[in-house]
Amino acid sequence: MHIAEQISRLHQELPEGVSLLAISKYQPIEALQEAYDAGQRMFGENHIQEMAAKAAALPKDIAWHFTGHVQTNKIKYMAPFVSLIHAVDSFRLLREINKHAAKHERCIDCLLQIHIAQEETKYGLSVDECRQLLANEPWRELQHIRITGLMAMGSNTDDLEQVRNEFRKIKQLFDELKSTYFVDEPSFCQLSEGMTDDYPIAIEEGSTIVRIGSMIFGERKY
Ligand SMILES: *Cc1c(COP(=O)(O)O)cnc(C)c1O
Repeated sequence: MHIAEQISRLHQELPEGVSLLAISKYQPIEALQEAYDAGQRMFGENHIQEMAAKAAALPKDIAWHFTGHVQTNKIKYMAPFVSLIHAVDSFRLLREINKHAAKHERCIDCLLQIHIAQEETKYGLSVDECRQLLANEPWRELQHIRITGLMAMGSNTDDLEQVRNEFRKIKQLFDELKSTYFVDEPSFCQLSEGMTDDYPIAIEEGSTIVRIGSMIFGERKY
């Protein structure tokens, strides 16, 4: 199926309140343009310089989301335009993003990445680390970032019940943090979970942004 058809089909399929983030890493400009022409306006990239080059080449009403691991020395390339940074996993990173956002007189929205899957990875906060960050670090002093929710990846497994349980835990954490720290902040409202293989489950468990790559663009290049 072609990119445009997949975009239209997903836009029809997703329930209200769930946004489609088209994950376009490694895809050529033409593929993104085809998705854009079919009505897609939110794109996610995993490499900052690739995202900056694509942002320069494509229409200006695209919201660019950064979904990769954030390298501190490259924040400057996305600070002028990035719309949401999905994978923030330390206070140090929040502080760095804040510093660059300030230079552009912007406030950059960030999600805290929670590591919940079975796979070993150095990225993401555990549930407890996330609680500790919010309890102990002076994140409220950072005027140029805003924490608007959580991001997670389900385990890469055929055991869909396990994946469902993981997403359920993320939603519980989200609700706990919302009632502890963000009661008066309607902007804390985003759960970025669900990819090509597990997005229907993620939606059932409360996802508000699904990150879909290979289902839209075809064969995985990663
Ligand atoms: C590549 C990637 C995706 C898209 O994965 P698909 O299974 O191709 O839909 C989603 N989220 C992140 C963080 C990714 O790196």
